[in-house]
Formats: sequence, structure tokens, C-alpha cells
Amino acid sequence: METSSVDSSAETLACENCQAVNSATQKFCSQCSFPIGGTKNEQIAFRSNIAVRTRMLKESERHVSICKKLLYFLAGINLLLGLYFGFAADDFPSMISSICVALLFLILTAWADRNPFGAILTAFIVYLTLNVVNIIDNPALLSRGIPSKIICTVLFVGGIRSARQVTLQREALEKLKAPGIGNR
Ligand SMILES: [Zn+2]
Repeated sequence: METSSVDSSAETLACENCQAVNSATQKFCSQCSFPIGGTKNEQIAFRSNIAVRTRMLKESERHVSICKKLLYFLAGINLLLGLYFGFAADDFPSMISSICVALLFLILTAWADRNPFGAILTAFIVYLTLNVVNIIDNPALLSRGIPSKIICTVLFVGGIRSARQVTLQREALEKLKAPGIGNR
């Protein structure tokens, strides 16, 4: 048999995972490293890796969205506090600072869609700073609202860890070119 009779379609193979066209002799896809020339088990392992990472991403995204609700809540509390200072207590400097803090939390919530890790970490630093400033201003506040402070801290720490996972899993899945991952 002449080598010239082997046409180009016989030499190429479309990747099952990302549809990239590869040479039929390649063991791994050049785009997504799917084991096109590998055994059935290797291909199953590759797919389950994508499935596991997708599940971890969804779980982490769920935790990040819980943390975003906390940021909305903190923004709301500060807005109400600002209105109270302004209209009930005639304390305009406190009104301005509370509304600024509320706006800051709202901006961080919007930023969390693009950079969940940076936004939630920054929000936690803002939250801690405000607490320290308040306690320096009025040491009696140290012992007040301890359960809510613990809940906020737990949600923030969990949110920061989950946000890191979102970034890592998104990067990994992008490399694996999981079909339809861009829609999530
Ligand atoms: Zn591929």
C-alpha cells in the first residue's frame, strides 16, 4: 500500500472533549490534554476529573453567594444607621461615614462577581477595621454582639476560602476545556 493513499482525514482525529482536530497518532489532545489515544479507563478518569472540579466549583460559588448576602446585609445595616444618625440623632458626620461604609460594601459586592477573592478579603478587612475603630471609640462595644461578630467572621473566612477555590477551579476547568463551562 502506498503512503500517498492515506488521506488527511485518516491521519486526524477530532477530540471527543473539546472537538479540536489532532493527529491520529497523538496520545493526548493538544488543546485540552484529553487522552484521545488512551485506554477507556484513562478517558473515564479524565471526565470524572472534570465532573469533580465542576461540582467543587458550584459548591464554592454557592458559598461565595452566601458571603455576598452578608455584604448586602452589612451595607443595609450601615445605610439604616446613617439614616438614623442623620434624621433621628442630628449627627451628620456619623451619617456621612455610615453611608460611605454602606456604599463601600455595595461596591465590594459588585466587584465580587469579577474577583470574589479580592472583594471578600477586602470586605473582611473593612469589617475588622470598623470593629476595631468602634471598640477604641467605645470599649464597652467589645463585649456587645459577640454572637453576630462570630457569625460574620465565620462567614467571611468561609467566603474567602471558597472564593480562592472558585478562582482555582475556574482556571483548571478552562485548561480542561470542559464543554459548556463558559455558560456557568
Ligand atoms: Zn481536546
